[in-house]
Amino acid sequence: MTSKERTAGREEASVQRFHDAQVYETYESNPHLEERNRLLISNLPEDVASVLDVGSGPGVFGRAVAATGRRVFSTDLSIEGLLTGPPHAFQSSALELPHRSREFDLVASLEVLEHIPDELLNPMADEIARVSSSWLLIGVPHRENLLRNHLRCPSCGSRFNRTGHLQSFDSQRLGSLFPDFETRWSQVCGPPVRDYRAPLLWMRHNVARRFSEMSGLGGNICPQCGQTTFPEFRHNPLSFALDGMNKLISSRRPYWIIELMERKRP
Ligand SMILES: [Zn+2]
Repeated sequence: MTSKERTAGREEASVQRFHDAQVYETYESNPHLEERNRLLISNLPEDVASVLDVGSGPGVFGRAVAATGRRVFSTDLSIEGLLTGPPHAFQSSALELPHRSREFDLVASLEVLEHIPDELLNPMADEIARVSSSWLLIGVPHRENLLRNHLRCPSCGSRFNRTGHLQSFDSQRLGSLFPDFETRWSQVCGPPVRDYRAPLLWMRHNVARRFSEMSGLGGNICPQCGQTTFPEFRHNPLSFALDGMNKLISSRRPYWIIELMERKRP
C-alpha cells in the first residue's frame, strides 16, 4: 500500500458514519443550525461573493448562504450527504481540492476538523487555506471532552467516540492550524451541553460500566470491528447517582466555537 493510499484510507474512515443517511436527519429543521446560519450570514464580510463549503454534507449552511445571492460550491467525501441538494455539489477529498489557489473569497468548514485524525489535520487545514483568497469560516465543537460520548463495542470491547470526533479545539488551537490567517470574529454558540467532571465520568465508565446514553440511537459504527448494533442505554443505580451528582456541580455551555479568519496581508 502506498502512503497516498494509506492517507486516502484514513480520510475515508473519518467519513464512515456519514455514509448512513440517518445521520443527516437531524440537520433539517434544526433550530440550532438555523440560528447558527443566521448568525454566520449576518457576519459574512460584504466582499464575499464566492464560497466553498468543505465537508458540506446536505448543505444546510450552503443553501442558506446561496439564498443571499452569493455563489456557493459544496464538497464532501461522502456522496450520501451530497445527494440531498447542497448548491453546486461535487465529491472530493478535502486533502486535494480540485481548485486553483485562492479561487474562493471565503472557504467554510463547519464541524469537519474534529473528525480528522492527527496526521491529516495540518495537511487538510493547509488545503482549505490554499483555496481561499481572503476569508475562512471554521466551526468545531468548543473544548469538547471526547470521552463524554464514548461507547463500548459489545462485540470487540473497544471504546470509541460515537460521533467519530477525534479532536478537541479551543480558539488558540484552531488559530494555530491557519498560521497565514488572523481571527477577526469568534463566537461560541449552539445547543447548551453539560460538562461531565472527569473523575465522575471515569467512575461512570470504569466502575458503573455505563457509556453514552445515546448508544441505542443508531449511526454508531465501531472503528475496530465495524459493529453497528448497540444496545439501548439503561442506567444502573451507580450511573444514575453519578449523573445526579454531576448535574449539581457542572454547568452547561454552548457547544460550538466558530471563527471568521482573514488572510494576513504582507
Ligand atoms: Zn468493535
